[in-house]
Amino acid sequence: MAGSVFLGGCGGGSSRHEVTYFAMDTVMSFRVMDSPEVCSVATEGLGELLRGYEEMWSVTLEGSEIARANRGEQVKLSPETAELIEFALEMNRSTNGALDITLYPVLREWGFTTGEYNIPESRRISQLLELTGSDKVQLTDMELLLAEGAQIDLGAVAKGYLGDLLSQRFRSCGVTSALLDLGGNIHAIGANPDGSPWRLGIRNPFGDGNIAVLELADKAAVTSGGYERCFTEGGRRYCHILDPSTGSPAESGLSSVTIVGEEGRLCDALSTAVYVMGAEQAEQLWRELGGFDMILIDDEGNLSVTEGISQQLTTTSSFSGTLTVIE
Ligand code: AMP
Ligand code: MG
Repeated sequence: MAGSVFLGGCGGGSSRHEVTYFAMDTVMSFRVMDSPEVCSVATEGLGELLRGYEEMWSVTLEGSEIARANRGEQVKLSPETAELIEFALEMNRSTNGALDITLYPVLREWGFTTGEYNIPESRRISQLLELTGSDKVQLTDMELLLAEGAQIDLGAVAKGYLGDLLSQRFRSCGVTSALLDLGGNIHAIGANPDGSPWRLGIRNPFGDGNIAVLELADKAAVTSGGYERCFTEGGRRYCHILDPSTGSPAESGLSSVTIVGEEGRLCDALSTAVYVMGAEQAEQLWRELGGFDMILIDDEGNLSVTEGISQQLTTTSSFSGTLTVIE
């Protein structure tokens, strides 16, 4: 859906204020625990700001920078879009290709962009994979030009990056305690006013409720789950995160990946990439790249958590698998 819709405000005299918008196909809620004045300053013009980013990055709004590039135009990018694409290309390299913004033609064929699902023939997938890969993206002096037929989609990284931009804005407006929720991309500013950390539910990928609770302060936590946008055909489930090496939905043995770190954009890029690469490679990446923690739920419902946040994670009564700490 285009544009942002405002759903609630900073009112009330208590110290909790919640502002909600609908933008980028996502309900985004901003809970601010500072005074109403600070909340008002931080959220003033927020709707326009969100709409502005949506108008830059949307694949469906015809005039967006991305939609224009996807039609073959050479596009002068805004600084934010250029930075975001640069970052996504860099993450393509550091994830060995698991994060790939050029998969859009393949995603479209599967119907993940419209909900009109279809299982493409393998020959068709091979044809479309020819159009993918970072070498199809030319970005010089903030001018973007895609190779013929190539198309990009920033869906795997945009909300994490946006969360970083919004966190900076909130902090510079004097916010000291807030939780920004951009549809599964959580950014914690400070802790609760009483100093206790925020408590974040880790959703059960196989049913309702939470499988665990994570304590979080001054960090981002981003979840990618196969349960989010899927369809079932012939008894098989097909989910919206594709493995760039096959052009088909990733089947790495993981059902949910949560990445925790300082930067939302890194967490967002890695949540998608780790979902594709699976536990073993993810563990290797965690050792090599560092700078993040992760919570993995495998297809059998077992949990693994890296040691940096293992003390902050508590399982709930709905959890019945094994819990492993990655050290
Ligand atoms: P996320 O929810 O952050 O994991 O992003 C998933 C979205 O990114 C999907 O809905 C697609 O639009 C897109 N996508 C799917 N597979 C990939 C991939 N391997 N690399 C980059 N983007 C992808
Ligand atoms: Mg992501």
